Amino acid sequence: MDCLFCKIVNQEIPANIIYEDEHVLAFYDINPQAPFHALVIPKKHISTLNDISEADHTLVGAMVGAAGKIAKEQGFAEDGYRTVFNCNTHGGQTVYHIHLHVLGGKAMGWPPY
Ligand code: 5GP
Repeated sequence: MDCLFCKIVNQEIPANIIYEDEHVLAFYDINPQAPFHALVIPKKHISTLNDISEADHTLVGAMVGAAGKIAKEQGFAEDGYRTVFNCNTHGGQTVYHIHLHVLGGKAMGWPPY
């Protein structure tokens, strides 16, 4: 399967990894949109949020848990941060392996348009 993030999981292309456990990997985004911008991904390939089955709910919970750990480790948990899943074209998804954006280090506006 020609998937960029599977290649990162399989160490076929490099990434600056900041968190890893049995099911989840996190690394810095190559094009940061905030002072801190990382992506949390499942090691298992899932293309979009629409492809998550009930059996994946624990895995998605692990992704959210990893985001919280990263925010605490990086020191911006108290000030706050943003987590985002983009899904398909209208959501702005460009890489079709689900990923949770973790953005921090500045106050962010809402809504995001
Ligand atoms: P999306 O637009 O799908 O929600 O987010 C995909 C993210 O992946 C973008 O923020 C983009 O900068 C990031 N990205 C794309 N290619 C690479 C890469 O090769 N390495 C890393 N670390 N991030 C990437």
